[in-house]
Amino acid sequence: MPPAPIIFDFDSTLCAVESLDRLAEIVLADDPEAEAKVTEIERLTNLGMEGAIPLSESLSRRLATLRFDRTQVDALIKDLQEQLTPGLPEDTAWIQTHAERLHVVSGGFIDWIAPVLIPFGFRADQIHANVLQWKKDQSVGFNQDHPLAHNGGKPELARDLGLGPNTGLIAVGDGISDLELKRTGVAERFVAYTAHAQRHVVVREADAEATSWADLRELLDQA
Ligand SMILES: [Mg+2]
Repeated sequence: MPPAPIIFDFDSTLCAVESLDRLAEIVLADDPEAEAKVTEIERLTNLGMEGAIPLSESLSRRLATLRFDRTQVDALIKDLQEQLTPGLPEDTAWIQTHAERLHVVSGGFIDWIAPVLIPFGFRADQIHANVLQWKKDQSVGFNQDHPLAHNGGKPELARDLGLGPNTGLIAVGDGISDLELKRTGVAERFVAYTAHAQRHVVVREADAEATSWADLRELLDQA
C-alpha cells in the first residue's frame, strides 16, 4: 500500500492565526467602525462554528462586512508567510519529499492560501479551499457552489478526491470541521493540532494530540 495521504487544515494549524481575522485587521486598519465590525465578524465566526447558522451564511455575511481589494490580499499573503506554525518554514525538505501525499483542505480562501504555501513545497493542485469572486481588483463574494462553502464539506471533498476511506488517510487540524473527517470514517486517524488553538471536543475525540510541528512530524513519521 502506498504511504497514507495526509490532509492538513490551514487556519490555526499550518498557520498560527485565523487568516480572515488577519484580513479584517488589515482592511479595517483605518475604519472608524473597526471595533464594531470586528465584533460582528467574530460573532458570525462563532455562530458558524457552533452550527447556529450554515457555514455558507457565516462566510458570506463575514465577507459582506469586509470589502477588500487585491492590494490588501497581497499584504495578507506577506503577513501569513511570517505567521506559519513555528518549525514549518525550516522543514521544507520534508515537505518536498512527502509532497505527493500532502493535501491542504481549508474552509478559508485559495486566493491567499495557495500563494502562502506553494513556496514551502506544497503542490498547487493539492491545496483545496474556497474561491473568492472578483470584479476587477475588488472582492465581490465567493463561489457558494464549492463543497467547502458548506457544512460537512471537508469529508465530501476528500471522498471526491479519492483520499479516503480505505487509504489510511490521516487528518490534522484544530477544528470540528477537521474532526468530521474522522467522524465520517473518511480519515482513519485524526491528529488534533493544538499549537495555536485547543478545543476540548476536538482533543477528546482525536487519536493523538500534537502540540508543535516537531511533535506532529514525529507522529507522522511513525505512522
Ligand atoms: Mg483551523
